[in-house]
Amino acid sequence: MARPPLVPAGPELTAGERTRYARHLLLPELGAVGQRRLRNARVLVVGAGGLGSPALLYLAAAGVGTLGVVDDDAVDVTNLQRQVVHGVADVGRPKVDSAAEAVRALSPETEVVRHPERLDDVGAMEVLADYDLVLDGADNFPTRYLVGDACARLGIPHVWGSVYRFDGQASVWWAGEGPCYACVFPTQPPAEAVPSCSVGGVLGAVCASIGSVMATEAVKLVTGTGEPLVGRLLVHDALRQTWDTVPVRADPGCRVCGSGADAMRPLGWASEVESACAPGEATEGGRPTVTVTELAVLLRERDAGAASFVLLDVREPGELEVAAIPGAAHLPVGRVRAGDVVPGAAGRVYVVCKVGGRSAEAVDLLRGRGVDAVDVAGGVLAWAREVDPGIPTY
Ligand SMILES: [Zn+2]
Repeated sequence: MARPPLVPAGPELTAGERTRYARHLLLPELGAVGQRRLRNARVLVVGAGGLGSPALLYLAAAGVGTLGVVDDDAVDVTNLQRQVVHGVADVGRPKVDSAAEAVRALSPETEVVRHPERLDDVGAMEVLADYDLVLDGADNFPTRYLVGDACARLGIPHVWGSVYRFDGQASVWWAGEGPCYACVFPTQPPAEAVPSCSVGGVLGAVCASIGSVMATEAVKLVTGTGEPLVGRLLVHDALRQTWDTVPVRADPGCRVCGSGADAMRPLGWASEVESACAPGEATEGGRPTVTVTELAVLLRERDAGAASFVLLDVREPGELEVAAIPGAAHLPVGRVRAGDVVPGAAGRVYVVCKVGGRSAEAVDLLRGRGVDAVDVAGGVLAWAREVDPGIPTY
């Protein structure tokens, strides 16, 4: 269903602008008036990462007048495979800085507002209230729920995208016009059920596909062009190269935009849900652990024939390609869950993963089966930090 433009048209275009945006002016649906709306628009992009990068570039190139960028992170070398607003020289810099520079290089007239912070329930409303719509390229559930809730309260569209491996999804959540994010995803899945891209990987170009869809939806909403993805979930499978849309409906009992909403609810309620199941929390509570430095000593003893045990890495095969502790056996946590036997284990088994969430689960499972399993605290990342800085991190 078509909707009226979100943003009123600003002053007439200059001769220079008419030349620069000629290919937009040629589109009857957009035209000079649409271009004036874009110049008048204030768009917030949450996350200058895989989705935010292409979205920012296309929104800048499209002549959006004000672009806000929210990100509290610094550029890491592993980001460069897909986060195309950052370059090699930006590694270590705040992402909002390199993103702002990329936008200015393309569109010096665009005002860039940097928000070098992680949105929280105190500041989110204040930040979002300044914008006509929000593009949400966050890589974590608390931020998605927070942005969804804030957009619903403000009545502005929440252009959302998500990628994992070769799959992508996108939609426009808009309370009052269609479903909000919480209507369709009412509860946050348990952490272990949803591996992140830093564990499962993602094809960089899939981020461009979904980020570009998000930029397209933003331009359509600002200018009132076409039919936005309100009430439809776009599902993309890059391996089969298919694009499908699934109808989605507002939930009358939704706890964000429906009758289930508590007006006094804190904006950050989803964050509280998440922290209860975050990896690392589970490493407490009676589970035996060793530190990575203790493990290094044990491995030296084993190499010298003075100790006998199995070091078991429960990460996915692709993660071992990036970095691994030498001498580890391998059994992904899914196979531990399925009851597979640890290869070569007769005595003690030290269990390691990336940061400690999956190894803690595996230790509990194995101990439940009578195996003398011990958790390696902090995982391969702690090993890289404290024992062998030469191995890559991810
Ligand atoms: Zn809702």
